Amino acid sequence: MYNYANSEEALTDVLRLSRGMTYKAAMAGLAQGGGKAVIFGDPRRDKTPEMMREMGRFVDTLKGKYITAEDSGIAVSDIVLMSENTKYVSGISSKYSFDGSIADGNPAPATAYGVFVGIKAAVKHAFQSDLRGKKVAIKGVGHVGIRLAEHLYKEGAKLYVADIFPDGVNKAVAEFGATEVNVADIDGLDVDVFSPCALGNAINYQNIDQIKARVIAGAANNQLASNEIGEKLAKQGILYAPDYVINAGGIIDIYHQNSDSSAEKVRDHLNQIGETLRTIFVEADESGLATANVANTLAELKFT
Ligand code: NAD
Repeated sequence: MYNYANSEEALTDVLRLSRGMTYKAAMAGLAQGGGKAVIFGDPRRDKTPEMMREMGRFVDTLKGKYITAEDSGIAVSDIVLMSENTKYVSGISSKYSFDGSIADGNPAPATAYGVFVGIKAAVKHAFQSDLRGKKVAIKGVGHVGIRLAEHLYKEGAKLYVADIFPDGVNKAVAEFGATEVNVADIDGLDVDVFSPCALGNAINYQNIDQIKARVIAGAANNQLASNEIGEKLAKQGILYAPDYVINAGGIIDIYHQNSDSSAEKVRDHLNQIGETLRTIFVEADESGLATANVANTLAELKFT
């Protein structure tokens, strides 16, 4: 749910997001396609229970071709309201908790863990080291970003955080020793890792030349404004972890919750994100191609 300026902007976003879900499912080895929905409006101001129920009615008309779940601006409680009118929802109950925490169906913990695993793999590849002492800038400390901050903190990373709302920033500062940074300054901060965890188009023609991080690895969908941006990053020697590979934890978790699985299997599958990224990084080094292009080709081989 997002306050889109107009229907064209929303349509562009939903088409890019749904395409990303298809590539994400392929790279995560899931036997499913990809889809996405967007709702117009500011989630903090415009969301009503009736709007969520109406969304459920709409999803039901697709008769299971599309199954909806949480994402930016949409919480577990919203999906519960949608489920009053459709059974085609996920992420409102869990059979397996991959980390022993309370399993309420929210995919954000699994997404955050997957991004953490991915950042470790990227840092290892770029610096041949672990996370201790590495500076990581997180843009957006919402459901995923704040959980990612906790994992990184426990592994010894030094955190810098920015958000347009104070709640996540305050928590990261108080509990994980993070330094608060202005939203306007976070992209160009002199850090080792830049982790976009807010919205799409995080890397674009306006900020690409400001980025000082050697690694870009975060949860946001559609991080690159274009393919060309991915190629430019490669030329600048910046290691980019393709978004739909590193942020597949949520869809992996949901897939297992709907299957006959186990907590251990979910965790193993999430850890696989690190292996998949390593394969992409090595292939990109060997071929001289951008990591985003390598990932696209690998995904397309699976579904074409
Ligand atoms: P969220 O809405 O809980 O968090 C996003 C945070 O970004 C919010 O705190 C928001 O205030 C902040 N933000 C928005 N615009 C900003 C800006 N310009 N600068 C700084 N901060 C800004 O969403 P989430 O569930 O944490 O997801 C974060 C990103 O990861 C989204 O792009 C989402 O599509 C993607 N993602 C999420 C999941 C999941 O399981 N939740 C799975 C895959 C991908």
